[in-house]
Amino acid sequence: MLGKDYERQDCAIARSLEVIGERWTMLIVRDALIGVRRFNDFQAHLDIPKAVLSDRLSGLVEDGLMERRPDPEHAGRHLYELTPAGRDLWPVLHSLLVWGGRHRHPNSRVFKHAACGTRLDDMGVCPRCGSAPGPEDILMELSRGRGRLRDDPVAVALRAPHRLLDPVET
Ligand SMILES: [Zn+2]
Repeated sequence: MLGKDYERQDCAIARSLEVIGERWTMLIVRDALIGVRRFNDFQAHLDIPKAVLSDRLSGLVEDGLMERRPDPEHAGRHLYELTPAGRDLWPVLHSLLVWGGRHRHPNSRVFKHAACGTRLDDMGVCPRCGSAPGPEDILMELSRGRGRLRDDPVAVALRAPHRLLDPVET
């Protein structure tokens, strides 16, 4: 099996990719930033095999990007939430979204500074306030007519404007 470490690379990018470079990992972080917290919700929204999801979530917990705690509403189940190090991936995901929108696939999401309602620019900065808000201060909306392809409970919940990191109610 191909290893996931870049042992001979003395580089912070290589070290980061050891943590987030596996298939699915960044999409799990994306969903967690949006506010998905339950295994079943990740599974339904990502269409990911359960064994892979379980492996990636364990890896994210082991690497300190997510925390796992008992789900108060469902005995025996868990909630997965980003740690501060995990939340710090917001600018990385935003940059991927901007790059992908330019070079790969039209972006279906709009991000606004929650405090003033202004759309963030491509650098993740609010042009009105001159600052780059953290995910907890960002509202996500779908562009008109886009993002209607999926109808799992998470996708349906996200058709309304949603503040990042607020738990998605399914
Ligand atoms: Zn603002």
